[in-house]
Amino acid sequence: MDVDDPSPRVGADPPRIRRLEESVVNRIAAGEVIQRPSSAVKELVENSLDAGASTVSVTVKDGGLKLIQVSDDGHGIRFEDLPILCERHTTSKLSAYEDLQTIKSMGFRGEALASMTYVGHVTVTTITEGQLHGYRVSYKDGVMENEPKPCAAVKGTQVMVENLFYNMVARRKTLQNSNDDYPKIVDFISRFAVHHINVNFSCRKHGANRADVHSASTSSRLDAIRNVYGASVVRDLMEIEVSDENAGDAVFKMDGYISNANYVAKKITMILFINDRLVDCTSLKRAIEFVYSATLPQASKPFIYMSINLPPEHIDVNIHPTKKEVSLLNQERIIEIIKNTIEEKLRSSNTTRIFQTQAVNPSALTHANMQKEKGTEVKMSSGMKSQKIPVSQMVRTDPRDPSGRLHTYWHGQSSNHEKKSDLVSVRNVVRSRRNPKDACDLSSRHELLTEVDSNCHPGLLSIVKNCTYVGLADEVFALIQHNTRLYLVNVVNVSKELMYQQALCRFGNFNAIQLSEPAPLRELLLMALKDDVLMGDENDEEKLEIAEVNSEILKENAEMINEYFSIHIDKDGNLTRLPVVLDQYTPDTDRLPEFLLNMGNDVTWDDEKECFRTAAAAIGNFYALHPPILPNPSGSGIQLYKKNKDCMASGEHVDNTDEDDIDQELLAEAETAWSQREWIIQHVLFPSMRLFLKPPKSMATDGTFVQVASLEKLYKIFERC
Ligand code: ADP
Ligand code: MG
Repeated sequence: MDVDDPSPRVGADPPRIRRLEESVVNRIAAGEVIQRPSSAVKELVENSLDAGASTVSVTVKDGGLKLIQVSDDGHGIRFEDLPILCERHTTSKLSAYEDLQTIKSMGFRGEALASMTYVGHVTVTTITEGQLHGYRVSYKDGVMENEPKPCAAVKGTQVMVENLFYNMVARRKTLQNSNDDYPKIVDFISRFAVHHINVNFSCRKHGANRADVHSASTSSRLDAIRNVYGASVVRDLMEIEVSDENAGDAVFKMDGYISNANYVAKKITMILFINDRLVDCTSLKRAIEFVYSATLPQASKPFIYMSINLPPEHIDVNIHPTKKEVSLLNQERIIEIIKNTIEEKLRSSNTTRIFQTQAVNPSALTHANMQKEKGTEVKMSSGMKSQKIPVSQMVRTDPRDPSGRLHTYWHGQSSNHEKKSDLVSVRNVVRSRRNPKDACDLSSRHELLTEVDSNCHPGLLSIVKNCTYVGLADEVFALIQHNTRLYLVNVVNVSKELMYQQALCRFGNFNAIQLSEPAPLRELLLMALKDDVLMGDENDEEKLEIAEVNSEILKENAEMINEYFSIHIDKDGNLTRLPVVLDQYTPDTDRLPEFLLNMGNDVTWDDEKECFRTAAAAIGNFYALHPPILPNPSGSGIQLYKKNKDCMASGEHVDNTDEDDIDQELLAEAETAWSQREWIIQHVLFPSMRLFLKPPKSMATDGTFVQVASLEKLYKIFERC
């Protein structure tokens, strides 16, 4: 060979390209169509529905790996068609490509049965109308193994698939190791039963007497849902419907049922049929989830049944081999319409008119957030240099000294997945170790929730649900209007009660707020004791001892308060996480020491119910919308931010507010705190109250709600003027 040959020298000849054996090609293709036992079941049930069946029975053994049997009473298969029934691309549902545009049946590729014969043993028994007997025949690799044998048969077709994936060792292994596919199969059949209400479905394990899904044909969709998912789901459903009115040729119709604010579940159930095909549409699902978490954060895992109808030519069903995902013409617009319809429904079902009497002031909040973020960043980077901030600096010794504010600890709401899953796993570990009943099932918690319900004042409930927020009257009271009446509402009291009730509702299921720095319990408790005016004269040693005792109490009960209330204390006695009691809301950390002292002092630890009540009350008190600790700077309050303390103390020169004299930094912080609180009251507290608060009877008489005027009377007065 020429040494100057410029072509790259390769050690060996390039690999030969060969044509794959047909059986290998088929098996690979089959593995794509039939990915797991549940996908085989889905295909078989769809065939039965395509055959016009009114009864479909499914029997499964070993999660479908040993046996899947689907029997129907449909039109059956002609004797002459049996030889090619399981060949690839043989179908009765499509003849020309153009037919695809208008196809209404679920199958059309003629691949499902064929695929099953490449990865399992398929036996078909079928009889067509008017025949005296049926035929039975087995298939392997697309062809009949023997001539069809006459046999006795009842109306319709029965397809039996045995030893699925017998020739795909790896697939069979992973399926055997992974979870049994049976729950998925039950899930599929349940969904079909909700949509095809004229068909009787049953699904059972081989040999079991009881069916796990058993639906009788009915004329009502709600009956069908009740049948399969239970009465408790149906109770919380609302009907929903929309069609595209703008389009001249009415191209789009949607109807279904969606859950309301009372439906609380761990995960979303989304049953979606597009042109009667059970499909997934990830972007629609995401959009709906988004609407729920924005409108009903507490019920953010909804139950959705939705049926969408479009002209067949507007759907491309051919983008996925199993037709699982479909693509729609004008998908974005359709999703937008559905999203808006759901949002409207949720809002109108939970609140009546909400008037925006105050302009939203997002700039104040953004400003506040930016400040917070900036602060966190600085603190975090100093933390990374592992300079622990001395406790003395975390202590707010002077309300006008911003450096000691507890924002040091602030990290904000943990929203990323890692933290959440971390939390979940922590909770699971605790659970499996202690093996208690599911936290949410504890009867004491139920009793407390029932007390909340039975103690609810119907009149106040109606006011809360239907009121219009007018504005803040002062630091504690907000003004609301209900019908023709004006009321003052004590914001601190109602928020305390709301947080208490939410702590019970979310019990065992909180998201977490992660503190940027672990906060040492003992020091925080000491801080609270020093602030406590009642403790004023006790000596420091005694306070130290009390702090020690309380911190021990909390540490002893750490596992429980973490599991039930997501208050996490690490092994060194540091507080690291707090619960999210209301979405979009974090409590004022200046009150953290007081909260811990309450937890230590006021919680009854030896009685389950009292423990939950008192702990939830302590949380309620901490998360309530108290006025910020920094004095309100508006009006004459600005005097409090003068640098010259002597002058402030003596009360002289009060009118003289010289710009230079004001501690601008502290003033800005106070302004932020107050405007943020006002924003939260209007945009978080009141909307959440409308949805969740059950005002106790005591609030009618203890000054929490005070009627200040009746407009009718006012009008009469004006008339006289
Ligand atoms: P496709 O459903 O895409 O047509 P399949 O492989 O699932 O392809 O089925 C091939 C054909 O077998 C169908 O077109 C239909 O004519 C017939 N068939 C399958 N299952 C049944 C059944 N349960 N009842 C009647 N005919 C059936
Ligand atoms: Mg089919």
